[in-house]
Order: sequence, then C-alpha cells, then structure tokens
Amino acid sequence: MPVINSIAALEEEMTAWRRDFHMHPELAYQETRTAGIVADKLESWGIEVKRGVGKTGVVGVIKGAGEGPSIGLRADMDALPIVEANDTPWKSRNEGVMHACGHDGHTTMLLGAAKYLAETRNFAGTVNLFFQPAEEGFAGAKAMIDDGLFQDFPCDQVYGLHNWPQLPAGTVSAVKGPIMAAADKFDITVTGKGAHGAMPHHGVDPIVIGSQIVTALQSLVSRSKDPLKGAVLSVTMFKAGAAYNVIPDTATLSGTVRTFDAKVQDRIEAGMKAIAEGIATGLGGAAAVDYRRGYPATVNHDRQTELAAEVAAGVVGKDNVRLDVPPTMGSEDFSFMLNEKPGCYLWLGQGGGPSEANVHHPQYDFNDKVLPIGASVLARLVEDLQPKR
Ligand SMILES: [Zn+2]
Ligand SMILES: [Zn+2]
Repeated sequence: MPVINSIAALEEEMTAWRRDFHMHPELAYQETRTAGIVADKLESWGIEVKRGVGKTGVVGVIKGAGEGPSIGLRADMDALPIVEANDTPWKSRNEGVMHACGHDGHTTMLLGAAKYLAETRNFAGTVNLFFQPAEEGFAGAKAMIDDGLFQDFPCDQVYGLHNWPQLPAGTVSAVKGPIMAAADKFDITVTGKGAHGAMPHHGVDPIVIGSQIVTALQSLVSRSKDPLKGAVLSVTMFKAGAAYNVIPDTATLSGTVRTFDAKVQDRIEAGMKAIAEGIATGLGGAAAVDYRRGYPATVNHDRQTELAAEVAAGVVGKDNVRLDVPPTMGSEDFSFMLNEKPGCYLWLGQGGGPSEANVHHPQYDFNDKVLPIGASVLARLVEDLQPKR
C-alpha cells in the first residue's frame, strides 16, 4: 500500500501551495497570512476551524464515520530570520525571512492529508489538525496548549512529522525514546572588585574567577553524569572588561545546555549553581546563576512509535522505515505535546532533492517530491489507527 493515489494526484496542487508559503515566509507569531490561507482552505473543504489558538495557530476538526477515539496531527507554520541564498522562482519575497526549516512543507502535507480525509472520512472518531505558530524558539506548541488545546480538542494520541535532509527521500524514521534534546540557556554573573591591571591585589578579578568556572563546568558533563547519557554544556559568550589596564568589576558567562534525560538536566542545573557560587566565593567574589529551561527533550512513546512505524511501512515499505537513527542535540517544541499525550515524532527523509543543504542553511529548500509521501503517512495514521467499524 504505497502513497495514497488520490493524494499522489494532489502533488501538483500541493507543490503550488508549498511554493506560495515559501515565497511568503512569516516569523514566530506573525503567521497571519499563512494561518489565514490554512483556515480558509480547511473551511472550503467543509472542515470545522478554530482560528487564533495560541495567538496565530489554527485547529481543524474532521469527524469520521461513527464514534471513536481522537488523534492529533501537528504541523508548524513559522519561518526563520535568514536571508535566502537560493535563486528559485519561489524564493522568499520577504527579505531576511526564510522557510529554512521546511515548515512550508509540513503545513502543506497536513493540508494535503486534511483535504483527503475530509473527502473520504474513511476512519472512526475524530482527527484534530494542529497548525502551530512559532516552533523556532518561541514555543508555539506550548502557547496552544496553554490556550486550552487539549481541553477544547481532546486527543488520545498525537503525531508530528519533520523533514530530514540527512535521510534519503522515500524513507521515514521512527525511533523510540529521546530523539531530540532539551535546550536550556544560562547566564552567570560573576562579581569581583575592579582594580588597576597592574595592581591586582587591590581587587578581585572576575575574569580569573570566570575562567575557572568555564573549566570546572565541563566536569558536569564529563564527571557527574552517566557517560552513556548524552549532554552538552557550552559557554558561548564570555563578556568582561573594556580596557588593557583595568580589571573590571564583573564578568558574564552565557551559553546552552542540551540534555535528553530530566535527571541529568536537574543535576547540571544544580551543579552549575554549586560550582559557580563555590568557585567565586572561594576566590573572594560572588556568582549569580540565571538558568532558564527551554524546550524539553522530545521523547517518543514506545507503543505509538511502533504503531507509527507500521503505518509508515504501509506507505514507504518496511525496508525504508528506519528504527535506529541516532538522536540529535537539536530541539523541538512538539516535545510539549509529547509530554501531555502519548505519541511519536517522525522524520521524513528528503535527501536527494534539488537542495542538499541542511535545515537552517540559507540554501535549504523543502523537497516537493516528498509532499505526497508525508501527506499519505499523516492520512494513514488516522485511517489505520482509527479504523472504521
Ligand atoms: Zn528549525
Ligand atoms: Zn523545523
């Protein structure tokens, strides 16, 4: 059972939608044009629509034949602040904003699935279509959840699909457990006491303190967690001083922490405070840590991953479903939905298309050839997991 025939017939139409979205990219919570087109299309196919969920999100609801469970399918709509380096006829018309993560393709595939499901209704229960804003760093999925998403549109399970340039077109990855990392930010303010650069004994040097903190923080990754559990701690900014001959009063260290396991995350947060404060105090200064949690780790649920892998095999063939793709340290806000409901986040191979660039690269482009594959997987998730009785 390969790509659904009537969805394959939509390829040209979906390609036109995708390129139109690509030409008119919108940043987080500004997706008004995109959301308007999505909502209008859904309504034109007889789908019940709620606009403005989580600011600019859209939800469509399709009732199948007879009572049954509810499934949520999610696509993201936002673009990135990148100047596009492609020269295609559908290049961004919004200078400095670009669909460099393929959310134009995700929105299109969910629309394709919606059109098919609304026409055929060959399933039981309900499918909720979530078109979310602001995936790129501004937690649009959380905004929708906080706006009552799962109270207003109850779901027994949720699924999301992201294109993946490192996997060949025609493949789908369905991997159990943690697949993307939690992404946290931190700022450490080290306070010393300014002095003449030639007379350090009159002051407390925050740069020396900060340097030791940078080094000691690495022991959180190398010495204080299970080596088989992944984590990264990177100090990416170290700001201090403004003159050759002045020891400054303060220094700030900032960076990112990526983890897959909540216990490791807790440990790193607590350890960072202990190390920064301990070193600073020991050297006569002080340190204050501002640790901010971002997206949680994206953790696929075992049962739903098995189900999604079976469904995907029905579209692309068993040999093209990858169950062992290694996790990535990138992060994804579908994690907020997976923390609320059982589900699975799938990767859709798109390598081998006109652009081989990775996501977030100025030469990235969504591979339109995979639109019917992704739309078929989404539609089959509904039909296979909620069969008509
Ligand atoms: Zn992205
Ligand atoms: Zn993305």
